[in-house]
Amino acid sequence: MYKKLIIAIDGPSGAGKSTLSKALADKLEYLNIDTGAMYRSVALMAQRQKIDSHDEQALKKLCADLSIRFVREKGQERIIVNEVDVSDAIRTPEVSLLTAKIASCSSVREAMLDLQRQMGQEGGVVLEGRDIGTVVFPSADVKFFLSATAEQRGLRRYKELKEKGIKVDLQQTIADVESRDKADTARTLAPLMQADDAIVVDSTQLTIVDVLQKMLVVVEAKQAEAV
Ligand code: C5P
Repeated sequence: MYKKLIIAIDGPSGAGKSTLSKALADKLEYLNIDTGAMYRSVALMAQRQKIDSHDEQALKKLCADLSIRFVREKGQERIIVNEVDVSDAIRTPEVSLLTAKIASCSSVREAMLDLQRQMGQEGGVVLEGRDIGTVVFPSADVKFFLSATAEQRGLRRYKELKEKGIKVDLQQTIADVESRDKADTARTLAPLMQADDAIVVDSTQLTIVDVLQKMLVVVEAKQAEAV
C-alpha cells in the first residue's frame, strides 16, 4: 500500500495548474484542492455583500460564516459555498482581479490557511495555489512550480474564457494576468514564490500530456520511496 502523499502545485495564473492538478488527482485517485477557487469564493461573496477589500474586520466575519466544500459531479470539480454552486460565478475577469486584492488580507489568508490544512492533512491530496509549498504545506512530499511566459498564459486564459462564452480581449487578458502576477508576487503575506525544493516545470512549449507525464514520474518515484 502506497503512502498517501501531499502534493503541492504552485505557480502564476494560467500556467496550467488547474488542469494538471485535476489530471494528477484523477490519475492517483487523490482529492484535488483548488485553493485559488477558495480565495475567489471569498472575493465573490465580498463583492455580493459590498464589502470593501480593505475592511479586515468585515472580511474576517465573512470568512468565519463561510462554508466551502468541493464536490465531484459527472467527473467535474464543483465548489459549493454556503450550499450554492459558485463554480462559474467565480471565474469572471472582475472576480479574478478582486481576488488578487482580497487575497492580500491577513484575516482572509488565516481563515483559508486553516481550512486548507484541515482538508489536506490526511494526505492523498493535490493542492494547487501560490503558497502551498512555502506556507500551507512546507513539508509537502512533492512540490511542483509550474511556469510559462505571460503571453502563453494570457492566451490560455483568453481561450478558456471565450469557451465559457465570456467576452474578452486577448491583449487585455494578457495585461490582467501580468497585473495579477505582480500583485501576487509583491504582497507581503504568503506571496507567489517558488519553494527552494520545488521541481520547476516550464510548460510554454509542452502539452498537458507531456507535463503530466513528467509529474507522474516524480510522484511515482516518491511513492515507491515512501512505501
Ligand atoms: O489560481 P487562481 O488564478 O484561481 O487564483 C486566483 C487568485 O487567488 C490569485 O491571483 C491569487 O491572488 C489568489 N491565490 C492566493 N493564494 C493561493 C491561491 C490563489 O493568493 N494559494
